[in-house]
Amino acid sequence: MATQRILDFLANRRPNGPCLVVDLDVVRENYQAFEKALPDSRIFYAVKANPAPEILRLLASLGSSFDTASVAEIEMALDAGATAERVSFGNTIKKERDVARAYDLGIRLFAVDCIEEVEKIARAAPGSRVFCRVLTDGEGAEWPLSRKFGCVPAMAVDVLRHAQALGLDAYGVSFHVGSQQTDLSAWDRALADASRVFAALAEEGITLRMVNMGGGFPTRYLRDVPAAQAYGQAIFSALRAHFGNRIPETIVEPGRGMVGNAGVIKSEVVLISKKSDNDNVRWVYLDIGKFGGLAETMDEAIRYPIVTPHDGGATEPCVLAGPTCDSADVLYEKTPYPLPLSLTIGDEVLIEGTGAYTTTYASVAFNGFEPLRSYVI
Ligand SMILES: *Cc1c(COP(=O)(O)O)cnc(C)c1O
Repeated sequence: MATQRILDFLANRRPNGPCLVVDLDVVRENYQAFEKALPDSRIFYAVKANPAPEILRLLASLGSSFDTASVAEIEMALDAGATAERVSFGNTIKKERDVARAYDLGIRLFAVDCIEEVEKIARAAPGSRVFCRVLTDGEGAEWPLSRKFGCVPAMAVDVLRHAQALGLDAYGVSFHVGSQQTDLSAWDRALADASRVFAALAEEGITLRMVNMGGGFPTRYLRDVPAAQAYGQAIFSALRAHFGNRIPETIVEPGRGMVGNAGVIKSEVVLISKKSDNDNVRWVYLDIGKFGGLAETMDEAIRYPIVTPHDGGATEPCVLAGPTCDSADVLYEKTPYPLPLSLTIGDEVLIEGTGAYTTTYASVAFNGFEPLRSYVI
């Protein structure tokens, strides 16, 4: 949603070209909503969603911890004021020399999902805490992260046993139910798997202490999504169901849910045209597309709300595309996007819910277009 602060900023500054404007007040409200909904969980903001220094500094000052995927992201979190104890290296795919660098920076919490990765951590970050990621089916998520990360629960038992044998601290289990997850029962299925890993290792005398429940908390695009409170309740019931009165420490890693609704992209209509005289869809070309930061429109997965100066009037389905000379740079075509008949070349439109996964997905200079500019206010 474009807040009044964002609208005022755009009206006063009139930035040229497409840009993202992020309202820090909304990020603060989101952080506080997570704290309230999940009072017993530590919050590790997933830096990749939007690593703007102003956002990281705000979250660090509010007490957030940070989930990072590279040495550069670790350094961003530390520069923002987080202590090393508040940073996890949560990528399961790391070079051993990056693990060593993270260890030098004081990081002692690492994600793994196989024996090979455990061996790197044991060599380069001796004695650290490790958690093993288990696969989820990604069912119910609009942007699933399944398959690439995690192992089956039975293998997680082997991985964590091996970690303990190599002198690491077998700390717990993690999962990610898939991004933009609107099915509250997804956490229940994953927590059931996690509890089985806990039980199997307990039988061998290894006591795990932590479940990292990942991200996946949705932001509102075109459809309503359950509020943070509903997620909190579903997660708490699932923890009770699977861990009884021995609920472990828990971590959540919201990315999209922390910043998605805090940002709005201002864009301009460059061209509106048809492909033939009797074509019944108009092609609307914006000055931002897949390569300018809207990569999550891949397979039309994420459908952003678009506000135009003509809303309320009659609409017709349009194909929406970006400005670059790549035919993949089409945002919505299989499911055309309804836009006002009176929309014209030169109109400014606002693409809402774009605070997450936009600036960092923008290409460097494809066709000479500069990366997405961002203002954090
Ligand atoms: C991307 C990612 C997140 C954030 O996911 P969202 O769906 O944006 O909340 C959290 N944890 C890990 C390990 C990730 O890779």
